[in-house]
Amino acid sequence: MVKVIAIANQKGGVGKTTTSVNLSACLADLGKKILLVDLDPQGNSTSGFGFDKTKIKQSVYDVLVNDVPIEGVILQTKIENLMLLPATIQLAGAEIELVSIMSRETKLKRVLDKVKYSYDYVIIDCPPSLGLLTINSLTAANSVLVPIQCEFYALEGLSQLMNTITLVQKNLNPALSLEGVVLTMFDARTNLSIQVVDEVKNHFRHKVYQTIIPRNVRLSEAPSHGQPITRYDPKSKGAEVYTDLAKEVIDDE
Ligand code: ADP
Ligand code: MG
Repeated sequence: MVKVIAIANQKGGVGKTTTSVNLSACLADLGKKILLVDLDPQGNSTSGFGFDKTKIKQSVYDVLVNDVPIEGVILQTKIENLMLLPATIQLAGAEIELVSIMSRETKLKRVLDKVKYSYDYVIIDCPPSLGLLTINSLTAANSVLVPIQCEFYALEGLSQLMNTITLVQKNLNPALSLEGVVLTMFDARTNLSIQVVDEVKNHFRHKVYQTIIPRNVRLSEAPSHGQPITRYDPKSKGAEVYTDLAKEVIDDE
């Protein structure tokens, strides 16, 4: 059975894209067939796989707004088993343009339903907002994976995200569940990081992944080389932890 996982947190810079790209790559390396959907107008998951956003002719925007068939828009990445539905800055307009279409909250779901059975996992990299694109993603998903950065105010805004998830469950997608919470950018040298881990574990209990993603400079360098961490530096700590996270995601089934 395919599982659709939305990587969501309306805060920017918490590790949504880093997790989307590297979790997808690690799941693919473990033999799973993956479709990564870049749903952020910044297109960082798209450039993270080495695609030049200025040269992309058709993107998730055309699929959502212009009814272009999704099959022709999906790209093969350099990683076996890993396909990408790319995004460009054009997607910024979709938030407004979708408003006028019928059943605007379910558009992504209807589109993904056509192709998702060819994959083991569909991973959706959400934009840093709780707008219509994130609602579409939560409506299309089986579960939500929430990255939380180990920093001051880590839990701030999470009740808003949880409220949005509850609203989507009530009105659009009753089966939506919380896949898990992953702590990111952990720095073992700071008390603050350790404190945040405690706080998040108290709050989310067994939903917190054992794997904690440390701050790792190789993870921040990899996107500028257009590669996931497992190709840019397979021996790095970043590659190791995202492989561990992928195994946890698989074991949760
Ligand atoms: P989001 O998609 O939530 O906005 P990103 O994944 O783009 O967040 O991460 C924000 C920034 O932090 C990026 O520059 C990214 O390279 C960097 N980053 C993310 N995770 C790590 C990490 N574990 N270690 C070091 N840098 C990281
Ligand atoms: Mg991002």
